[in-house]
Amino acid sequence: HQRILLASRPKAEASTANFELVEAPLDEHLDEGQVLVKHHFLSLDPYMRGRMSDAKSYAAPQPLGEVMVGGTAGEVLASRDRRFAAGDLVVGMGGWQTHAKVSASTLRKVDTSRVPLSAYLGAVGMPGVTAWYGLTQIIAPKPGATVVVSAASGAVGSVVGQLAKARGCRAVGIAGGPEKCGYVRDELGFDACVDYKEHRDLQSLSRAIAEACPDGVDGLFENVGGMVMDAVMVRTSPFARVAVCGMIAGYDGQPIPMAFPQLILTNRLRVEGFIVSEHPEHWPAALKELGELVATGKLKYRETIAKGLSSAPEAFLGMLKGKNFGKQLVDLR
Ligand code: NDP
Repeated sequence: HQRILLASRPKAEASTANFELVEAPLDEHLDEGQVLVKHHFLSLDPYMRGRMSDAKSYAAPQPLGEVMVGGTAGEVLASRDRRFAAGDLVVGMGGWQTHAKVSASTLRKVDTSRVPLSAYLGAVGMPGVTAWYGLTQIIAPKPGATVVVSAASGAVGSVVGQLAKARGCRAVGIAGGPEKCGYVRDELGFDACVDYKEHRDLQSLSRAIAEACPDGVDGLFENVGGMVMDAVMVRTSPFARVAVCGMIAGYDGQPIPMAFPQLILTNRLRVEGFIVSEHPEHWPAALKELGELVATGKLKYRETIAKGLSSAPEAFLGMLKGKNFGKQLVDLR
């Protein structure tokens, strides 16, 4: 039984020294209501960087010396709850470890006949629901509207643009590098994708966004913050809506001031932040739609899969720098 603990809190940028891998024999004793799960996949997500710090945040900091928090998909080895039996495939929050003993109430059984197990951590899991919620409940675009999404090739962004297209919108992505932008346009079917790395300053990036959005920006799904966000904000149409989902540009200690708060007034923007876990009532409908779209091949996604638990810290730190291409997972089989 391998586990990765949070060993120390990062001072500025996180490093592999903040993590510790420990190994011990698997304790198979279960109390009533507990389930033992062998993990097949661990999900690596940007929010984990926030949990490593003890700065004030919407989520409590992850305690030192304990297993890193994380979403997992795996197989039930043994169960003392009547809802689960050995062999069931489940998703839960088992953390950065090869096995977990968890309360049955934290697990959800999944059907892998039409949707692969790993997708339940991505397009048909928390990132997919995040995309669904921000797009349909906050931006709520009308057909014909232009929706821009940053980190467009990623787990959340890729779903945002495809759902926007399915609702008759013009979908414009922002991503780092020609390969990611090509994928967003050609494989995911966005109308355009701007490579922010081609632009050194705000003016130049903002011009590229204007070219990709000839009718202005009606909805912005923001995943990044900083210059990338500012460059879209200046192109917003009156009464545009901004769903503030994440600000990954600032997660690893970098300051991300917002350049144009006055635009909220001048363009009469509606700007709303959200945390997907606070809207459990929407999850069933979102997962149903996302599951059906993936099962029928209408929603595409891509994964970057690191091999073995010991590769998790490096894969996680790489994701914060954009080294992932699509949903970042760790294969623990
Ligand atoms: P991704 O799969 O999109 O991976 C992160 C991507 O962010 C990288 O691949 C990189 O893409 C981009 N990125 C990293 N640093 C920068 C930077 N400095 N400037 C621009 N882009 C950068 O991750 P997710 O889809 O899982 O998450 C996307 C966002 O959604 C995150 O901000 C996350 O915190 C947020 N989120 C919010 C939730 C909520 O409830 N509010 C729930 C889930 C996610 P590139 O190479 O293109 O730069």
